[in-house]
Amino acid sequence: MTHDARLSNIVIVGGGSAGWMAAAALAHALELPVSIRLIESDEIGTIGVGEATVPHLRAFNDSLRIDEVEFVRAVRGTFKLGIQFVDWGSIGSRYVHGFGTIGHDFRGLPFHQYWLKLHAQGKAQELGEYSLNTAAAPRGKFISGASDVPAGSPLARVAYAYHFDAGLYARYLRRYAEARGVKRIEGEVVDVKLRAADGFIESLTLKSGMNIDGELFIDCSGFRGLLIEQALKTGYDDWTHWLPCDRAIAVPSEKAGPATPYTRSTARTAGWQWRIPLQHRTGNGHVYSSHYLPDQEAADTLLNHLDGRALAEPRLLKFTTGRRRRMWNRNCVALGLASGFLEPLESTSIYLVQSGIARLIQMLPDRHMSEALQQRYNAEAAFEIERIRDFLILHYHATRRRDSEFWKYCAHMSIPEPLEQVIRLFRDSGRFYRNAEEMFALTSWVQVMIGQHIMPASHHPLVDAVPDAELAKLGESVRGVVAACVAAMPEHEQFIARCCQAPVAA
Ligand SMILES: Cc1cc2nc3c(=O)[nH]c(=O)nc-3n(C[C@H](O)[C@H](O)[C@H](O)COP(=O)(O)OP(=O)(O)OC[C@H]3O[C@@H](n4cnc5c(N)ncnc54)[C@H](O)[C@@H]3O)c2cc1C
Repeated sequence: MTHDARLSNIVIVGGGSAGWMAAAALAHALELPVSIRLIESDEIGTIGVGEATVPHLRAFNDSLRIDEVEFVRAVRGTFKLGIQFVDWGSIGSRYVHGFGTIGHDFRGLPFHQYWLKLHAQGKAQELGEYSLNTAAAPRGKFISGASDVPAGSPLARVAYAYHFDAGLYARYLRRYAEARGVKRIEGEVVDVKLRAADGFIESLTLKSGMNIDGELFIDCSGFRGLLIEQALKTGYDDWTHWLPCDRAIAVPSEKAGPATPYTRSTARTAGWQWRIPLQHRTGNGHVYSSHYLPDQEAADTLLNHLDGRALAEPRLLKFTTGRRRRMWNRNCVALGLASGFLEPLESTSIYLVQSGIARLIQMLPDRHMSEALQQRYNAEAAFEIERIRDFLILHYHATRRRDSEFWKYCAHMSIPEPLEQVIRLFRDSGRFYRNAEEMFALTSWVQVMIGQHIMPASHHPLVDAVPDAELAKLGESVRGVVAACVAAMPEHEQFIARCCQAPVAA
């Protein structure tokens, strides 16, 4: 790289979770004389949802050297062991998709293979009883390895994520980023000037008349995709035919009872409802298909199923599930809602912001914006979001529900070929093979497939090498360890009260 081409001027548009995550991470990682400016408009505001995460966020926080206790207090967070799915596989059914492992590998095979044989013999309990996360979550128990746990105990390795207040999260990251030199500019971008020679973004104009030039522009402007779409006309792949929900109504409610250490997702007649417990309130939302359900009915359903009193007027959000054809186009990289959107069923959007930032830092360009780098970035980003998309489609498609037109459509719709193959392979003998760096691992796919009633016809042939008595002992020993660990865990609320309760007036 010649000295002349070095990147020295980065402009981020948007101050939601995506914008401030990018600002914080770049300010921390780029130990170079690079100017980072973030433009946001208080008048436009942020989407204000996005409060459930996946465990990867802990690695993001660690990389920024964020102290967990301080963080959880600041965002009024709670801990998340997984997601409980209610009425998804069939009305009346429930299961937890937990983070972490199911049992332990034995003779080179994943534990669920042994469970399948035990289950066929009528000797197994529900799969969830063989995993710490899925057994602890519905019992309201939680512990983290950061607390006083002996290093060798399974309790030292509990996999968990956070629930947090989205507004407080952006504020926390803003303080972090500004303390490390990021300059915030308040104002609305009203014009984007492109360079005639190559169509690169040259500068932005704010409503105030101020001009802001840059070399790399990061579009975190939300669904509108101010730079990536409105200015650069990148194009968007619409996946509504596979993930038909296109609206959400969100409302916070008063806390009613102890905060659960899991997100709850309850299937409704044309979508599903989330419940996200925070220290001071509960976040709720109804994600649905406007083709099958009028907005008013969706709002009524939500309000009729709150645990506590609503604290605000319900807010309607419209979206189109899909992705930008290129998430990096010319000198613009889109992150967050500007780059595409998968509905929040598995809380993956903030993770996609995180992985987009990590990829950008890995592939940091110079001012020439190498086409080869762009291609690589775009290929990785497309692979990642498409595999998550398929995992989400699985929840809708693998259902026995036929009680509404929506569920009939989901059960009968054609699905992407790679997902067909995953389901076929699992149905046959319970096998799943993770593709490269895809986000969700074997335990996630197995829990959701079994939770949604896809029972394999057989198990791996090597399971039969284990005598029945030994197999039964294996199952009992795993279940016994899980049960003992859960019994030793404190209540989630107690754990929060002891280590990271936010001050009442914060
Ligand atoms: C219903 C719903 C539920 C969700 N739940 C989850 C969840 O549980 N977990 C999860 O991981 N994700 C979830 N998400 C996604 C999550 O909310 C987003 O990924 C995350 O908040 C990042 O949003 P953002 O920063 O990209 O956009 P936004 O929050 O919309 O921010 C856009 C920013 O751009 C600024 N802006 C826009 N136009 C201009 C302009 N012209 N000039 C200046 N500034 C401008 C705005 O002021 C704002 O600061 C959910 C999304 C939806 C829709």
